[in-house]
Parts: sequence; C-alpha cells; structure tokens
Amino acid sequence: MSALPPEEIQRIITRVKLRLGETTGSPGVALRGQQGLEEAAQAELGDGLYATVPEAVAAASRAFDRFRAAGLGLRKRIIASVRSAMLEHAVTLAEMAHAETGLGRAADKVEKNRLVTTKAPGPEDLEPQTVTGDQGMTVTEYAPFGIVAAITPTTNPTSTIINNTISIVSAGNAVVFNVHPNAKQVSAENIRLLNRAIVDAGGPPDLVTGVPEPTIDTAKELMHHPDVRVLLVTGGPAVVQEALRTDKRAVTAGPGNPPVVVDQTADIEQAARDIVRGASFDNNVICTDEKTTITVRGVADRLVPAMERHGAYVLKEHELRRLERVIFTEPGPPSKPGRIDPRWLGRDAAVILHEIGVRAPDDVRLIVARVGNEHNLVWTEQMMPVMPVTEVGDVDTAIDLARRSEHHFGHTAGIHSTNVDVITRMARVMNCSIFVANGPTFSGLGYDGEGFCSFSIATPTGDGMTRPRTFSRERRITLVGSLRIV
Ligand code: NAD
Repeated sequence: MSALPPEEIQRIITRVKLRLGETTGSPGVALRGQQGLEEAAQAELGDGLYATVPEAVAAASRAFDRFRAAGLGLRKRIIASVRSAMLEHAVTLAEMAHAETGLGRAADKVEKNRLVTTKAPGPEDLEPQTVTGDQGMTVTEYAPFGIVAAITPTTNPTSTIINNTISIVSAGNAVVFNVHPNAKQVSAENIRLLNRAIVDAGGPPDLVTGVPEPTIDTAKELMHHPDVRVLLVTGGPAVVQEALRTDKRAVTAGPGNPPVVVDQTADIEQAARDIVRGASFDNNVICTDEKTTITVRGVADRLVPAMERHGAYVLKEHELRRLERVIFTEPGPPSKPGRIDPRWLGRDAAVILHEIGVRAPDDVRLIVARVGNEHNLVWTEQMMPVMPVTEVGDVDTAIDLARRSEHHFGHTAGIHSTNVDVITRMARVMNCSIFVANGPTFSGLGYDGEGFCSFSIATPTGDGMTRPRTFSRERRITLVGSLRIV
C-alpha cells in the first residue's frame, strides 16, 4: 500500500495553513476572506481528481464498468485496503481537517476517522436473503445502482468521505464527491488516498472521484447530472432541499438539535459526565452531539455542579449576556433558533470564554449556562461547546419541550433515567433515527456503544444510519418448484 511520506504530509498541512491565512485567527476559508483563496494554487489533478464535474462523472462511470465486471472478492479486498489506509492516515487527515476548517478538536477528529473506518459496515452487509418452501426458492440479492453523488459537510469532512466511500463502494457503486468548499484541500487529499488504496488492492482507478474546486454550482451540476443515479447529501437544510428537488433517489442526512432529558431517577454523576463528554466531542460540531439539556425540577441544582466537576465552566448571569452578544448575530424571537456567528462554530470552549473575558483553564471542555425554556440556545443547533441547561416541572413536560425544541426533525435525542417506562415513552415521542438512554449520544454512533457506525444519518428520507444496503437495489430470483432440498 502506498503511504504519503511524513515530509509530504507536513508540506500539505503547512500549505493549507498558509493558504488559509492563519493570521486572521478565525475559522474557515469563507471567514478568512477571499484573500489567499484567490492565490490558492490549483490542486493537483489525478488520483480521482478532475477539473470538471462531467470529467469526474465520466471517469467514475468507466471505473464502475470495470468494477461491475469484477467479483465480490475484489470488492472485499478493496474495502480491506481502504480500511487499512484510512487507519494509517487517520491522524494526518484529522490534523489537516482541523487546520483547514478551524472547526473542532484534532484529537476528536482522529477518533471519528478511526470510528468510521473500523465500524462502517462493508460488503458483509449485503448477505443475500433466501426463502424456501413447498413452492420452491426465492433469493434476494443486493445490486449496485452505478454512480452515486455524495455531497459532504465541513463539520466532519474526512469521516464523512471515508464513511460514504465504504458504504457506497461496498455496495458495488462508484462515487463522485462534491465536498464542502471550506474543506476542499483535506477532502482532495482524502480522495487521492482512497484512490491509491483501491488501486493498491487491484481495483480500478477513479472508483472515487471529485473536483478540487467544489462550489454550490458544481454541487448542483453533479446532483442533476444524467449519469448519476443516487444522491447522498449530508449537510444543512438548504442542500437537503436542493437534493429533494431533483428527480433522483435522494438519501438526505439533514440537520438536528439533539435534546437530552435528565429526570429525578437518573444517576446524576454519570449523566453529568456523559453530557460533558458528548456535547464537547469535536466541540459539538457533530449533528448527533447533545445540544440542549432539559431537566426535571430540582435536578439542575445537582446536575450543573456535577458538570463542573467533569470539565465544564458554568457561566454567571452577566457572562451569559456577554456570550449571547458574541455568538449570535441575531438571537431570534423567544422559542426560535437564533442565527449563530459562524466565527464561533466548533471553537474551543477556552477560546470562546477568552472572548467574553472569562479566564478558564485551557482544558475546559464545555460552557454551561442555565437558561429559561424559551432561550434561543435551547432552540438553536449551536455547533459549539456551549450547553444550555433548562428546567421544567415534570418529565412529561421535559419530553414535550425536547420534541418541540428538536423541531420535529426526528434526528437524535437522549435521556438519563432509570425508569424504563419514561425511557420508552420518550423514545416513542421523539421518533428519532437515534435515541440513546444513559450514555453520551455518540454511543448511538457505535462509539462506546453497540452497533455499526455511520456519519450520514438520513432522517428526512427515512433511511436512518446509512450503510451499503442504502445504496443497493434489491433484486429477487424465484425458482418455482425446485431447490428446497429437505
Ligand atoms: P452545509 O449545508 O453548509 O454544507 C453541506 C454541503 O452542502 C457542502 O458540501 C455545501 O457545499 C453543500 N451545499 C450547501 N448548500 C447548498 C445548496 N443550496 N446547493 C447545493 N449544495 C449546497 O452544512 P455544513 O455546515 O457543512 O454541515 C453542518 C450541517 O450538516 C448541520 O446542520 C448538521 O446537522 C448537518 N449534518 C447532518 C449529518 C447527518 O448525518 N444527518 C451529518 C453531518 C452534518
């Protein structure tokens, strides 16, 4: 397997930092202005990267024709090679993603890369189903669609690309990526590494392609390309709407605002530890991270000090007012989402605290604020390590507030409770793709929890945790009167 030499990795990271104008100190290409971007050198083409969408799709089509003609053995070797290469490069890709986007924590991004690499299901997800009976036998097999277009977010750039590739290629398809412009460098590198891993395993080149200069326009061009059969879109509401406007099968992984309820029966110490761990994981940029804590009366007085013991800083009233002025460009009306200033997305808690004049240890993980039910933070997908804690009278009111503040997305929710009736009731009411009881919500991704992992959770289209089957056509063969052998 080919690996990038360490000096090349360092060169790429340095180049990314230089291009993005580190001196401005704000995250993300868009926020650093156009300066630097205009000077950005053309990314090198090859290894799956093509200058235009039609070229990237045509190359993937050629690769698909060769891939389709090959057997399952090659598919398994390809996925094994991809897993091995992505484990090898997990740290480098995480550091590059952090340097380029300015979002999250590099160490947590390493965990995310390793998680999807090891726990995203492979071709074993496509075991044929067989039924035999007096009238013979029916076998159902999983066939590829062909070309899948995947649109990826800036919040989990590499973990999504790795995850999507394993799912889509395991199902026998080729994939063309249109990645987030703010993560284009690391995403291009990721596509190159995936191509090399596939070719090293004996697979065709260009099974994974993309364009090095992605834009909203190239995303639309890709989504509407006649040779693309399926769309996998991971991002906010705008791109989900865009995908649903096409005439193609769309698998859309949209936004969430995961609430977690803590009732009076919960193990408060564990709940506090889990919420701090979960909500601060990659600085809250993951769509499944806890974004609102709702407690039953009397619980917050015990929970909040416990959160402090587990690495959170608790804001005083006047500090909360300062925070609101910094993180919101528009707070919005009560009980509605506010508009977050993108400069603060995914930043470290210590950086945000410093901005509002609070001295806190550098290793502080989460900022906690006690707020009223109608506070905008409760209703906003804030994507930064700031956790509102709000209290209500009883657990049914808590579940109701959780349902409403999640905006009925049905994405992710959690509860800390030892009452199984309450756990069951909330799981039913929330009607979410992921529901977690008594753990951080990332346990629902298979991280410190059972089950496989996906970083594209397709709630709006009902596909849930995407996997190879999501990108497969079910086909059946029936033999009448034969092949029941007992
Ligand atoms: P984003 O919507 O800004 O961008 C996502 C992708 O869509 C990017 O590649 C972007 O270029 C493209 N895009 C955006 N608007 C578009 C349009 N009108 N037409 C075509 N393409 C468009 O999202 P982001 O900031 O990168 O990611 C954060 C959002 O994604 C959050 O809302 C989060 O909850 C969601 N998300 C969901 C999942 C999930 O599995 N459900 C996973 C990750 C992120």
